Amino acid sequence: MLVDSHCHLNFSELAENIQSVRQLMADEDIGHALCVSVTLDKFPEVLTLAEQYDNFYASVGVHPDYEDIEEPTVETLVELAKHPKVVAIGETGLDYFRLTGDLEWQRDRFRTHIRAAILAGKPLIIHTRNAVDDTLRIMREEGAEKVGGVLHCFTESLEMAQAAIEMGFYISFSGIVTFKNAKDLKEVAKQIPLERILVETDSPYLAPVPFRGKTNQPAYVKYVAQEVADLRGVSLDTIADATTANFFTLFKHAKLGAEAVCS
Ligand SMILES: [Zn+2]
Ligand SMILES: [Zn+2]
Repeated sequence: MLVDSHCHLNFSELAENIQSVRQLMADEDIGHALCVSVTLDKFPEVLTLAEQYDNFYASVGVHPDYEDIEEPTVETLVELAKHPKVVAIGETGLDYFRLTGDLEWQRDRFRTHIRAAILAGKPLIIHTRNAVDDTLRIMREEGAEKVGGVLHCFTESLEMAQAAIEMGFYISFSGIVTFKNAKDLKEVAKQIPLERILVETDSPYLAPVPFRGKTNQPAYVKYVAQEVADLRGVSLDTIADATTANFFTLFKHAKLGAEAVCS
């Protein structure tokens, strides 16, 4: 069984077809999915999915690419994170690729999320692009290692992965790892410890090969896991077992929920 550790099932491409998305997950033995919040405005849609389906979980947070939206406060995030199906804070982080100029607001927003995660006792989902030094610096300054979390849709260097792992973080690979030109990233997937790896789709974006350019969905996480397995010279089952165990170790509130469902 595999888990999609990061997807956006409330986005219309997927929300409108949720039954077929769930059917394909079942057919491919994708047991769980974490639905990740990008704005406070859409958080209720994300939470509804997690409330409606036992094997879906939610996060609460505001993505660094959204500029003119309601800015979250620590108090708001902590309050919303009290819901038992909210298992993480994010996605949050820094993105100097999509946005340029004075991004002090992005760094402030990132700090807000780390403070909320520590108070809520729930791990962080961090999005980081072209912002290695500031991401690691702010994680250190704010004590992110107290809650840990994941660097999702990882595209940076082995050095950055190792620095995050030292702070107790996990590294999540998306469909990008299946792309032919992602040579450095494939090397990261080969080298980091298995007990620190997660897999995700970030659907509806970033469909893996052989679906590149199409609408992505949680079932396709299998292709990400297969690529990681091939790179490391191990079986798909090995990667499935490890990444599923890693998911429930990191997102321990999901485990509590899953045990409640199973018992
Ligand atoms: Zn992201
Ligand atoms: Zn995302």
